[in-house]
Amino acid sequence: MIRPEDLLVPTADGLWCPLGGFHIDPVRPVERALITHGHADHARPGHAAVMATRETLLIMAARYGENFAGHEQVATLGEVMRIGEVSVSFHPAGHVLGSAQIAVEAKGMRIVVSGDYKRRRDPTCLGFEPVPCDVFITEATFGLPVFRHPDDGIEIHKLLASLKAFPERAHLVGAYALGKAQRLIKRLREEGYDAPIHIHGALEKLCTLYQEEGIDLGPLEAATIEAGRKSSGRTDFAGAVVIGPPSAFADRWARRFPDPVSCFASGWMTIRQRAKQRGVELPLIISDHCDWDELTDTIAEIGPGEVWVTHGREEALVRWCTLAGIRARPLHMVGYEDEAE
Ligand SMILES: [Zn+2]
Repeated sequence: MIRPEDLLVPTADGLWCPLGGFHIDPVRPVERALITHGHADHARPGHAAVMATRETLLIMAARYGENFAGHEQVATLGEVMRIGEVSVSFHPAGHVLGSAQIAVEAKGMRIVVSGDYKRRRDPTCLGFEPVPCDVFITEATFGLPVFRHPDDGIEIHKLLASLKAFPERAHLVGAYALGKAQRLIKRLREEGYDAPIHIHGALEKLCTLYQEEGIDLGPLEAATIEAGRKSSGRTDFAGAVVIGPPSAFADRWARRFPDPVSCFASGWMTIRQRAKQRGVELPLIISDHCDWDELTDTIAEIGPGEVWVTHGREEALVRWCTLAGIRARPLHMVGYEDEAE
């Protein structure tokens, strides 16, 4: 039997599989990359060859252009593929459209790299699938017991109630451009909100991609002055929902909306201090990552012999594993941000 640290090696470039000659989610350009999902810190341009799910490849092409890699190979979920001396397979991670865990197996040792994942229902992607393994590699973005995310329905209803209470004000919602924005829109539609939703230009390509993949987001309009006038008869988007990436809130774009209700959809909104610092009036605790219970329940459910924690609040989760009798170690991997979430 091979040792797990000989099957996957944490390096400065990312997890390296010497027997397969590939990296997983490398943070620098490499010869061969296997990619879990399309978020910019996991999916970077410039690799000679990329293997990922069809959706993740589409997302990378939308973000970086058609030539984001020298060669592309589609990974079909659940299909075992041979690379060098190892077998690899991709399994749904429940994080964003196309997100996958990657299982790497050789000589009777299986390691699952979960990438980013969550266990909640998300109408915009396939749900997380537990894969039995010897070593489970997990992130710990919200790996502290203080993080317990409420049901997203509660948060969506907060937004709907605020729209009702302040019909004269635009509701300006910060949401990460890949995954969070589309999930938020889809959840609003599920709760019966059918008015056009205005989106920042940075969300356009990805929303179109989601729609083309069969995720109906309803009527979307560009958050331009003209669109504002059309929908409310005025230029101030009164009563409208406007969604933009968190970065847009600091620039001129946000200033076109007079007296908006500033909202932000993020797991970080659990921390009131963060909401306050960002000037968020209506924090919406909606996360595409596991909270503490989801992390620990997942590890208990899979029951791996060993857990490796890539990044986030590693120490608390490592300690929880140790107390539960599971060997665990932090990898302290750099290059994966948790702020964008
Ligand atoms: Zn992610």
